[in-house]
Amino acid sequence: MQMEFNVASLVEDVLQQQGKRLSDADNFASRRAQEASLKRYEAAGWLRKMVGVVLGKDLPAEPSEEDFRIGLRSGIILCTVLNKIQPASVPKVVEAPVDSVMIPDGAAPTAFQYFENVRNFLVAIQEMGIPTFEVSDLEQGGKSFRIVNCIVALKSYHEWKQCGSNGVWKFSGNAWPCNSVSKPHQGRRNSDMFLSFLSRNSSSAGNNDNVSPSLQKLVCELLSDKSAEKIPIIVESIISRVKEEFERRLERQTKMIGAAPHDESDSTSCMSSEIEAASNIRKTDGGAGKDFCNAASGNLPFKQQDFIDLQHRTVEELRKILNSTKQGMNVLQLKYQEDVDSLGEQVVRLASLASGYQKVLEENRKLYNQVQDLKGNIRVYCRVRPSLPGQSNGLNILDEVVDNSLTIQTSGKHGKGKKTFSFSKAFGPNSTQEEVFADTQPLIRSVLDGYNVCIFAYGQTGSGKTYTMTGPKELTKESLGVNYRALSDLFEISEERKDTIAYSISVQMMEIYNEQVRDLLVTDGGNKRLEIRNNSSNGINVPNANLVNVASTSDVIDLMNLGHKNRAVGSTSMNDRSSRSHSCLTVHVQGKDLTSGTTLRGCMHLVDLAGSERCDKTDAVGDRLKEAQHINRSLSALGDVIAALAQKNGHVPYRNSKLTQLLQDSLGGQAKTLMFVHISPEYEALGETLSTLKFAERVSTVELGAAKSNKDTSAPDVKELKEQIATLRAALARKEGAAVYMGIPTSSVSVSFPSHSYKTEVTKHQFYTNFVLFF
Ligand code: ADP
Ligand code: MG
Repeated sequence: MQMEFNVASLVEDVLQQQGKRLSDADNFASRRAQEASLKRYEAAGWLRKMVGVVLGKDLPAEPSEEDFRIGLRSGIILCTVLNKIQPASVPKVVEAPVDSVMIPDGAAPTAFQYFENVRNFLVAIQEMGIPTFEVSDLEQGGKSFRIVNCIVALKSYHEWKQCGSNGVWKFSGNAWPCNSVSKPHQGRRNSDMFLSFLSRNSSSAGNNDNVSPSLQKLVCELLSDKSAEKIPIIVESIISRVKEEFERRLERQTKMIGAAPHDESDSTSCMSSEIEAASNIRKTDGGAGKDFCNAASGNLPFKQQDFIDLQHRTVEELRKILNSTKQGMNVLQLKYQEDVDSLGEQVVRLASLASGYQKVLEENRKLYNQVQDLKGNIRVYCRVRPSLPGQSNGLNILDEVVDNSLTIQTSGKHGKGKKTFSFSKAFGPNSTQEEVFADTQPLIRSVLDGYNVCIFAYGQTGSGKTYTMTGPKELTKESLGVNYRALSDLFEISEERKDTIAYSISVQMMEIYNEQVRDLLVTDGGNKRLEIRNNSSNGINVPNANLVNVASTSDVIDLMNLGHKNRAVGSTSMNDRSSRSHSCLTVHVQGKDLTSGTTLRGCMHLVDLAGSERCDKTDAVGDRLKEAQHINRSLSALGDVIAALAQKNGHVPYRNSKLTQLLQDSLGGQAKTLMFVHISPEYEALGETLSTLKFAERVSTVELGAAKSNKDTSAPDVKELKEQIATLRAALARKEGAAVYMGIPTSSVSVSFPSHSYKTEVTKHQFYTNFVLFF
């Protein structure tokens, strides 16, 4: 449309200019030739001044038209002058000697080179907005006035630039002398020329700024040398050809649009909205929309309609895909919901399983402790220490240690013979600390399950109590005693259970000296008396004693070192380190079940008792004697308590000593008691050894006796023993008769008993009245 408008205005221009020319032509014709010459001289003069001699040839000062053309046809002068005015306007000027006069037509390379220069010049000039000329104007028959006009304009431009480029440069020279020179037509048909121009510019047809002036120029050119009568005919012809051309182009454009759908990638997006709009129109209610649609589609070219249909189908397909995707999403959502539901169910199931597991765990704990109960709530282990270098005189009373019994060889006033004693377990002189502790381990687990445990070391001074409970002076990993190992196990098991139960472990260390309870964990050396409060709600019987939290065995070692330093140690003739006090390391364990939130509390007493030797064995007097009496009394009280528990008496005399008061919670009932009974292998200690073994046996009956059932099974034993007594009496009578006869004192008679089971032994010893019980 724009194109058509331009053509219309162009024709209008032509007609206007034509009218002008017709009226002025006669008046100025003669003067124009003269003016043209003057102008040419001006141009030549300026070029000479600007360029000087070019390629050995000077442009004449007043050249003829011919000379002027020839001088400039190489384009070198033109390009040189242009580059001077506006540097690098023609970047490459071909300077090969060109002498068109000498070179015949058709000399291809030179003609081409000169053409290049001129063309470059013309392009640059055109860009600058200076009137141009045709390349053919430099040839004979061309229009030299256009060349002159161009150079004069260039000169004007140059002057304007030299004056500082003020304002906008506008060529103020004469208009093209379209009507000045009448030359014969060169033989080309006007309309053909015009059409060829149109085709040349078809690619830039949309650029109207370029098209209009060129068209104007072309029409002007075509009509310039025509006579007035011919012009209307020419114009008419131009118009008809223009019309034809535009119709042709319109058709071509329509075809191109029809072909466009094939390039879907580019056109789809913009077309789809149009299609959408078109389909909306189709869908609108009422006939108006439909009519419009029909009318529109009716008017649309066939291919465009096809394209719209195709796009419509594509949109429909896309809609279908969207719908199926939506359905897919719904299915997925349902599936997801189902998964979440089933996961929820699984979690609930797992939770119930977990609580079931907790119950089983709880049950397991109970069963475990029941097993421990069945093993006996009071266990007595006997340990014989090895002979110490330099102490033994070679006589060793130990005869045999077999699993849970030990046999000693008696002699002298104790009677010559072998005596066998049974225990929960017996450890010989070669047993290691580890072996001794192995059977203690199950009790540690019980403490963490909330049971109270009491571990004693009983025996005369020097029999190895401290060695068992703590270890030798120089501790090594192997020689660590029960205390360290028990605590180490506590930490280990509590760590194993940390996911289900959070434990806190704290310790107290006390001693009972002369029936006074003293704190061994004081750091200021203070010696305040401590009260024992049984049945305290938190299970801590001595609330005023230091209670220290421990997290590792090294913490415990540090504390025990402090305790040992604080421990009152008396010196006796038997053992410089002999402890005349009971020392008690109490471990309090509190556990919180992380699932149920319930708390449990267990406590373990690790007691290194004072020496059990009888007073008359030491040469103690004064304070030492007092110490010994207190010790004997408290050990008697311990025996009484245990005996009362054994006989299941209603009254258990816990209050008879500080020791039994302190350990009350851990003796009897649900508590588990373990006693390490220590004996020395030396002959000198035999009396104390037998006394110790008696105590141990008395303690053992508490549980091992399993009284009622044993009573039932004791009937045959009693019978057997009665028979033995009868035999013994007879033998005694015989011996006494013989002794009287031979003069030997009766006290030296030794009696040998056959080896019996534990129960038999106990019964047997009840009859063995030669032993004086210590308590
Ligand atoms: P108590 O504490 O009963 O008075 P100790 O534990 O102090 O007796 O032991 C007395 C001595 O015997 C110490 O030198 C100790 O190292 C040593 N001893 C005790 N039992 C053993 C043992 N099983 N193995 C080696 N040496 C031991
Ligand atoms: Mg000791």
